[in-house]
Amino acid sequence: MPQDQETGSTFKMLLDDAAARLGSRLEADVLLAHLLACDRAWLYGHGTDACPPAVESSYMKLVERRVVGEPIAYVTGTREFYGRTFQVDRQVLIPRPETELLVELALELDPPTRARALDIGTGSGCIAITLCLDQPRWEVTAVDRSEAALQIARFNRDALGARSLELRHGNLFEPVSDRHFDLIVSNPPYVAAGDEHLAQGDVRFEPGMALVAGDDGLDIIRRIVAAAPDHLEPGGWLALEHGHDQAAPVRKLMESAGFDQVESHRDLAGIERVSLGRAR
Ligand code: GLN
Repeated sequence: MPQDQETGSTFKMLLDDAAARLGSRLEADVLLAHLLACDRAWLYGHGTDACPPAVESSYMKLVERRVVGEPIAYVTGTREFYGRTFQVDRQVLIPRPETELLVELALELDPPTRARALDIGTGSGCIAITLCLDQPRWEVTAVDRSEAALQIARFNRDALGARSLELRHGNLFEPVSDRHFDLIVSNPPYVAAGDEHLAQGDVRFEPGMALVAGDDGLDIIRRIVAAAPDHLEPGGWLALEHGHDQAAPVRKLMESAGFDQVESHRDLAGIERVSLGRAR
């Protein structure tokens, strides 16, 4: 297509400019591909096309949000998790690769065929929806104390076809107070309140209630570990994600609460990131 320098920018000109501002060609591409609902290859094939002015101004707004530090997942409203695309916004934590380890370990467990599984603090729903879709015979329930988060989880459940997933509003075990499970999983808030990491990068934009858990970051984990035995069948599993330096204290909490077969597993970065224990 002939390019008309007089009437506007080509895609390539916009991308070059955005890449320079963002310090990343990849991010410039990802944002434009998101806006045009195309893939990156299409952009390369159409670099000399003129960009419609409305697209240009929308693109500039997205680039600006990213320039001031907003996570790319919030700017595009999506993040991949375990091979599926989840919708996210600032009401929920952005799904992370280390949480895929929690899912992988949970899927490898061998609970009864029609296992009842509970996800505490489901956020976007990424853990619960993945369990539901990859183990269709499990009966999965997910809870969150944030109604705004549950709306996102509901959207993802419906969009990804995890029809059997039951979503309930409330804090920790409150919405399932009289129920028992074969498996309880959670990626709870586990960052210490004063952690300097909260002032850096993506986490600045994420909901504090999904991140912070008291002075040592273990407040919520302590409550989950203490209450879980009352909600697990004998032989049922508890699997928790935790901070990079929390594996030993979490194992200790699980052992003191009477769990057997307590063990921690390393994520792709080699960090002990998920601990499991089995109810007696
Ligand atoms: N993994 C997140 C971080 O590094 C914390 C997530 C959480 O608290 N569950 O900030």
